[in-house]
Amino acid sequence: MKEVILVKNGELALKGLNRSTFEDILVKNMKRRLIHSVGKFTFTKSQSTIIVEPNEEDLDFEKAVEVISKVFGIAGFSRAALAEKDLEDIKNVALSYLGDDLRSVKTFKVNAKRSDKKFPLTSPELCREVGAHLLRNIPSLKLDGHNPDIIVTVEVRDKHVFIHGNQIKGAGGMPVGSAGRVALLVSGGIDSPVAGWMICKRGVCLEAVHFHSHPYTSDRARDKVLDLARIMAKYCGRINVHVVPFTEIQLAIIEKCPENYLTVIMRRLMMRIAEKIAVANNAQALITGESIGQVASQTMESLVCTDSAVNIPVFRPCIGMDKEEIVTISKKIGAFETSIQPFEDCCTIFVPKHPKTKPTLAEIEEAELLLGDIE
Ligand code: ATP
Ligand code: MG
Repeated sequence: MKEVILVKNGELALKGLNRSTFEDILVKNMKRRLIHSVGKFTFTKSQSTIIVEPNEEDLDFEKAVEVISKVFGIAGFSRAALAEKDLEDIKNVALSYLGDDLRSVKTFKVNAKRSDKKFPLTSPELCREVGAHLLRNIPSLKLDGHNPDIIVTVEVRDKHVFIHGNQIKGAGGMPVGSAGRVALLVSGGIDSPVAGWMICKRGVCLEAVHFHSHPYTSDRARDKVLDLARIMAKYCGRINVHVVPFTEIQLAIIEKCPENYLTVIMRRLMMRIAEKIAVANNAQALITGESIGQVASQTMESLVCTDSAVNIPVFRPCIGMDKEEIVTISKKIGAFETSIQPFEDCCTIFVPKHPKTKPTLAEIEEAELLLGDIE
């Protein structure tokens, strides 16, 4: 039996004249993601649905469904079977394709959509016929018009008839590539991959920047960041990771600046470098995984000092979230197990004993002068 995926693009439907541009980006993203891990598919736009059809017989359809479930810009989708434009075939396909699902629930109803008005049966007739056939063949099943466990949908379109059960929830958001590009400062921790995932969900492309302090931080700490980027890429698409050698700068800060300002000064240097990488790669803003008050360098005062080191906006998608809420997303996107691997990060190797929690910009700027020519 031939299966396809019917993608319903929820929020996209609202975008008026831009809709077709958004749809084109969404199709490009799905195509690229599927080619990369499953194989070739054909994409057909039809009303508010994109029909995703495998080009070869023995493609891994389960894998395709998993890939599609992670593509941003999709509110919901259905796996559907194709039937001939013939009542007997529709009944048979409905039973064989959805029979197992229907046997494991109590109630159902049939919903028919008939965009091909030449089809000889009306929608109510089609519902009755298919419903009666399913009831006859699955004795445990009952009709429930109001709150059924499964809605069996029969869509009679121009070329095909599609039959599917309940819709599957998509990743939501907007297609990546529809809303500009940013540079994400990614550590090996829990928060920054979540921040990256959240901003990508709104259609933004990621450029990642990681600061590496060899030999104080190991190659495995860097590889962990690459692993996290691969996990994010399942949702966000292709990501370039810029690994910045940071040891010399960190050692200079430690040598020359007062200890209690170390973290904020280090942060400001990270921001400056990330800004240069962002500008060189057409990224318009910086993203971090910070949330207010989590640690000394994330008090409002420290964040203000960090921001004033750069001229482009710094967005922090996790800013108002509790750690627990961030962890929930981290687990949902499959990053948590990697994030908690115990490798040192450059922020954790030189931690001041008494970090200043409420630095003023004037103090920080004065302390920074001790570094000499930062450029
Ligand atoms: P995370 O879980 O993202 O590491 P955190 O709560 O551990 O965050 P910090 O280690 O203070 O907080 O880092 C705050 C933010 O600074 C990170 O979310 C990340 O955006 C950025 N950052 C920290 N370390 C690095 C690094 N080595 N390379 C790039 N960015 C970093
Ligand atoms: Mg960290």
